Amino acid sequence: KKNRRLVLVSNRLPFQLLEKNKRITLKESDGGLVSALKSYFERESSHAFDEKWWIGSADFPEKRWEGFKHDKKRRPQDFEVEPLFLDTKLYNRFYNGFCNATLWPLFHYFPSFVEFDDDTFRAYEEVNQRFADKLIAFLKPGDLLWIHDYQLMLLPCMIRKMMPDATIGFFLHIPFPNFEIFRLMHRSWKEKIIHGLLGADLLGFHTQEYVQHFLKTVRMVAGLDHYYRAIYVNDRIVKADLFPLGIDYEKFNHASDQLPVKQQKEVVLKNFGSRKIIFSVDRLDYTKGVTHRLAGFERFLEQHGTWREKVVFIMVVVPSRQIISKYNQRRKLIEEQVGRINGKYSTLTWQPIIYRYSHLSFAELSALYQSADIGLITPLRDGMNLVAKEYVASQRDGRGTLILSELAGAASELGEAILVNPVDKEEMAQAIFTALTQPEETQKQNMAILQQRLQEYTVIHWVNDFLKQLQEVKELQKEQE
Ligand code: UDP
Repeated sequence: KKNRRLVLVSNRLPFQLLEKNKRITLKESDGGLVSALKSYFERESSHAFDEKWWIGSADFPEKRWEGFKHDKKRRPQDFEVEPLFLDTKLYNRFYNGFCNATLWPLFHYFPSFVEFDDDTFRAYEEVNQRFADKLIAFLKPGDLLWIHDYQLMLLPCMIRKMMPDATIGFFLHIPFPNFEIFRLMHRSWKEKIIHGLLGADLLGFHTQEYVQHFLKTVRMVAGLDHYYRAIYVNDRIVKADLFPLGIDYEKFNHASDQLPVKQQKEVVLKNFGSRKIIFSVDRLDYTKGVTHRLAGFERFLEQHGTWREKVVFIMVVVPSRQIISKYNQRRKLIEEQVGRINGKYSTLTWQPIIYRYSHLSFAELSALYQSADIGLITPLRDGMNLVAKEYVASQRDGRGTLILSELAGAASELGEAILVNPVDKEEMAQAIFTALTQPEETQKQNMAILQQRLQEYTVIHWVNDFLKQLQEVKELQKEQE
């Protein structure tokens, strides 16, 4: 019998190993990609595979792993792990350099933030090659390989060269920008990235627009045309399609049954329940539009004096990429702005903004989603934005209003939210007022439609849909041989 293996690859493994007093503990990582794939692994449908592997670079020393990997009880239960150990200096040039000082700002439409440095691109190539070497030694015929995200765009081609028959899927979790933005990169980078991606059999994106941008870019950079989202690369058919990432709907919708969530919710409502609650949570990142959001909220307070003391904005910022200076500057800007607005509008018994800079536990996050009358999610640019979807799923009583940036990928699925331009503070102030005064009937109608849609395409559907199409492309290739 054939041993069916699913091999996931992402830049980082979904956990860290911490060591304290000689005792090693496993800490799960934050973020959308990790929680999405973990939910899939926990489910039945992943049992179609005899083995599931997760390959990624390790955020811990090799020695620590050696001590831990044989510990059957404490290592991850739902998948096998194969860490890649990279030299720290190389990794920094790759991750803080090309990934997050070049690709991240460029693909999120911040061209003025982009650093163009051939040296960090070389590190990008080198790390992708290290992944390729590892995988070529690891893969067996018949394996299904699924590569994730912008850190590994050269990898599909590197593997294809050595293993022409491999089954390779690739998913991009950030926007694919339009060609006028993409073309700003050095010519050789552009060509290598596009040919790198075209090593895959199926390329997945969050929205129709990203797919269109990719197809156009393939034509401009590689001179290859497309027919119904199919591209012929040396007679091999490659497909690009949209797969909007979903969430674990039940997990958020049923969270109110859990005792720790109930307890947290009581704390929130005891402190703020007499007021309307506006809530936002994002990683600290300039793409998330936090300072513009604060400006919109301030404008609202200025215009609607009667709402002061009747509303509170709970804003959580989750630490991220702390060694990059752009991120530290951002934190300072945010904190100064929060301080200024609170200084201006606070009274002896009320503070307009409750600000927190930390991670949240699931119970805290879920309690805040449930307690919030308004989810105010306004990134300047976002591949998808799962927070918006989680907020919707958490409204079990069907009340609440989502205000969402039209520049988040999620906006293309969540049209019943109040969509705003995240830099227009007048529009944001107006949206807050509209949401606060929205009749319960309207809230419930919109919520019901949004929830229905999220239930119909959860993260499990997303994975199954992608893997099914990947296998279909493989079959199509065989037919055409
Ligand atoms: N999240 C988290 N820790 C926190 C707060 C939030 O892991 O303290 C999760 C949140 O539930 C969501 C993800 O982080 O699933 C953020 O995903 P999103 O797509 O909104 O943004 P990203 O951070 O991937 O840019």
